[in-house]
Amino acid sequence: MFLWRERIDPAGTEFGVEWAFTDRHEGSSQPPFDGLNLANHVGDHADAVETNRHRVAHELGLRAADLRFMDQRHGCDVAVTPGTHDDLVPEVGSPDAPAPAVDGLVSGRTDEALVVLVADCTPVLLLDRREGLVAAVHAGRPGMMSGVVPATLAWMRTLGARDIEAVVGPSVCPRCYEVPARMRDEAARVSQVAPSVSWTGTPAIDVAGAVVDQLARDGVSARWLPGCTREDPNLYSYRRDGTTGRFAGIVRLLPPEEVA
Ligand SMILES: [Zn+2]
Repeated sequence: MFLWRERIDPAGTEFGVEWAFTDRHEGSSQPPFDGLNLANHVGDHADAVETNRHRVAHELGLRAADLRFMDQRHGCDVAVTPGTHDDLVPEVGSPDAPAPAVDGLVSGRTDEALVVLVADCTPVLLLDRREGLVAAVHAGRPGMMSGVVPATLAWMRTLGARDIEAVVGPSVCPRCYEVPARMRDEAARVSQVAPSVSWTGTPAIDVAGAVVDQLARDGVSARWLPGCTREDPNLYSYRRDGTTGRFAGIVRLLPPEEVA
């Protein structure tokens, strides 16, 4: 179920976190979505997706209704979940409202988990333990180009974050991500580490490398998990399979032991 999972317990006034990346095992979905597909926009049976979401939520001690998804658009818009710093954030709806059409989602709540769905795009999870803020970011090539990661960091800082750490999940590697030369040139203007070559020597882009570079330039240290979605059959890959499922990056804030 989980490719990677970590729990950092709360300490004093510092919040804890539980964050993870799923794989495609222990799910109910049938081919070509087999098995732990968590996306309901890819053509899979809704009941299978619901069962899969329940399983993942249960593992994290939550209900499926506590998972906060995004209606991901490959853009750079960011939303803050209702109930997070209502003094600073205009009301954007109830927790029962449809998933917001954004690619970065920020929360200061300990009773929900943020979810980013991917199948080659770069999933980023963010945390500030002192302020009690987390975020999930969907950073594919368009999101990297338009700056969805810096935009999400800016929102977290607006809400008080000062010490942000990041985990970057598996995505398609530059060897497997051939693009037109013009696209590589455009990416080079966003990050000098973005231009790369594919396994056949043609132009390629290192999207995740550029995202890690964007984090570093914004003063955020990242742990970058290994793995290429296109090469690892344990993960969903749109480039490899076309019609397929989505795995998830998930982050949940844990309340501090004592209130400052
Ligand atoms: Zn690869």
